[in-house]
Amino acid sequence: MTASYRAPVRDQRFVLHDVLDIAQYSSLPGFADADADTVDAILEEGAKFTEGVLAPLNKVGDVEGCTRDADGNVKTPTGFKDAFKQMAESGWTALSSDPEYGGQGLPHVLNLAVNEMVSSANMAFGMYPGLTLGAAAALAAAGTDEQKQLYLPKMISCQWGGTMNLTEPHCGTDLGLLRTKAVPQADGSYKITGQKIWISSGEHDMAENIIHLVLARIEGAPDGVKGISLFVVPKFIPDENGDPGERNTLKCGGLEEKMGIHGNATCVMDYDEATGWLVGEENKGLKVMFIMMNEARLGVGLQGYAIAEAAYQQSLAFAKDRLQGRSLTGPKNQDGPADPIIVHPDVRRMLMDQKCFVEGARCFALWTALQGDLEEKSDDPAVREKAGDYMALLTPIVKSYLTGKGYDMVSNGLQVHGGSGFTEEWGASQLLRDARITMIYEGTNGIQALDLVGRKLAMNGMRPITSFFAEIDAFVAEGGNDETQAFVDAVAGCKGKLKQATDWLMNNALNNFDHAGAGSHDYLNLFGLTCLAYMWARMAKTASAKIAAGDTDPIYAAKLKTGRYFLDRWVPEAAMHLAKVEAGADSMMALEEEAF
Ligand SMILES: Cc1cc2nc3c(=O)[nH]c(=O)nc-3n(C[C@H](O)[C@H](O)[C@H](O)COP(=O)(O)OP(=O)(O)OC[C@H]3O[C@@H](n4cnc5c(N)ncnc54)[C@H](O)[C@@H]3O)c2cc1C
Repeated sequence: MTASYRAPVRDQRFVLHDVLDIAQYSSLPGFADADADTVDAILEEGAKFTEGVLAPLNKVGDVEGCTRDADGNVKTPTGFKDAFKQMAESGWTALSSDPEYGGQGLPHVLNLAVNEMVSSANMAFGMYPGLTLGAAAALAAAGTDEQKQLYLPKMISCQWGGTMNLTEPHCGTDLGLLRTKAVPQADGSYKITGQKIWISSGEHDMAENIIHLVLARIEGAPDGVKGISLFVVPKFIPDENGDPGERNTLKCGGLEEKMGIHGNATCVMDYDEATGWLVGEENKGLKVMFIMMNEARLGVGLQGYAIAEAAYQQSLAFAKDRLQGRSLTGPKNQDGPADPIIVHPDVRRMLMDQKCFVEGARCFALWTALQGDLEEKSDDPAVREKAGDYMALLTPIVKSYLTGKGYDMVSNGLQVHGGSGFTEEWGASQLLRDARITMIYEGTNGIQALDLVGRKLAMNGMRPITSFFAEIDAFVAEGGNDETQAFVDAVAGCKGKLKQATDWLMNNALNNFDHAGAGSHDYLNLFGLTCLAYMWARMAKTASAKIAAGDTDPIYAAKLKTGRYFLDRWVPEAAMHLAKVEAGADSMMALEEEAF
């Protein structure tokens, strides 16, 4: 039988309290309410909800999927509607939102820990509230006061849903090709006409209204990305009391048949002179949409490691239970017909890869979310500036590295199951199918790598990467003890290679942009690996200090052992990535197109 999901509360507490020491920020808004007891209580309650309510619906969602009737109404899988109601009523969706609009104002870093549980338990389900809160964040940043008052309280409480509408049949990565048009009306509204495809949570039966954020081109606007505006287009136009009123002229024109995330409704959305209102300034829509996209990119990076956690738990339970062969060093299960497969080094390799990735990724994601809190809440301008730089720099890395490696780890989880992994009964195949989309949506991982190399490195005169390198150098200069110095050396080694790769790109890619494109994937992976090495070194130092202080909790010794595996088996990849960056574009681009 498939193992039930168990939320990794102990490990999250280790990162939040011991490594990041979030108590040190208690003077910042929201953090004062997040004392250790409150944090632990929220994590425990989050665990109960996700284990007990969301996880049991994961397979239901996969098997049943969503269905659409002739009028375009979409029914979600059995149990989703009740779970959504329960999630909203318990306040889970409002955890870190603005108290002015009904949110609880708690730190984003805590919210991320809860969201990890949601995505591990049921990723397809988690996308409904996730997109709603992303849309709310964009409205909060750029909406008028009236728009904020009208939409935010109901979106934050998930009484209403939210979506993001960028993609069109001929326009995915290249949004400059976008055709959906907006015609201004005398009353200040716009008529929106066009077709959007692959819109997650585009239509469903769980919320009384759905608020679509739609990119469109106002008649006469410039071609390309400079002529794109953002509109808020509600399914039901709010009446004078702010309740759902007249049905807008938009509908779900079809549901996609997909490889995974069957529980999430991926919709063709047809807008036929639908009434919408401008959000932010004319022709500046992409800038606002990026607020939502950046939030969503961090959310997708989180999905990458969250689903790897679920796969790890399943494969670990299987490896302890499945009896095949004997240990190379003599039988371990003397009374049984064979040993559990966890005794075999090659199975260990797959389990340890998963474990060290997930734990490193969790620390990295939580540390990044903390930068979001500091950027928003610190009263020190220098801290806000550095945190903002980090958010810009790290977002493509969180998105791509955690989903790319996350997918590999989910595949490892399936491999541990042998043939059972390939059958549907055990759940490993669903996780692999679900995980695959994370590398594609919210900007493909290739596009994230180009964003990192092409935009984020040079940003503000290279200020973000310069301060990242300075932070690493200061950490390395502090050194370690007998046990942790190897971790510090690994960080120094990765950072040295990342610096060399950065210099190589600076010296070569400006003369030939293809060098940047050819090296971007490996550059991003080298960067991600460096971040994970830094996280592992911080975790190792924390664990070592706890042990030295006499704390006998076994998590600390396990951290050091898992971290040693990371040093032996992951850190060597840094040299490979550097070599690939420095190989440049020549051999990649040499073959004539017709010779393929
Ligand atoms: C299940 C699902 C849910 C989705 N949800 C939403 C949603 O809610 N809202 C929404 O608006 N969209 C959504 N999307 C769309 C998604 O964001 C796009 O699929 C994604 O942005 C990529 O666009 P594309 O599929 O058109 O690929 P293309 O743009 O056609 O790209 C194809 C390939 O070419 C590469 N490529 C393209 N251009 C370049 C370039 N300049 N340089 C290097 N490589 C390049 C890409 O990396 C990719 O590998 C969803 C898609 C799916 C499948």
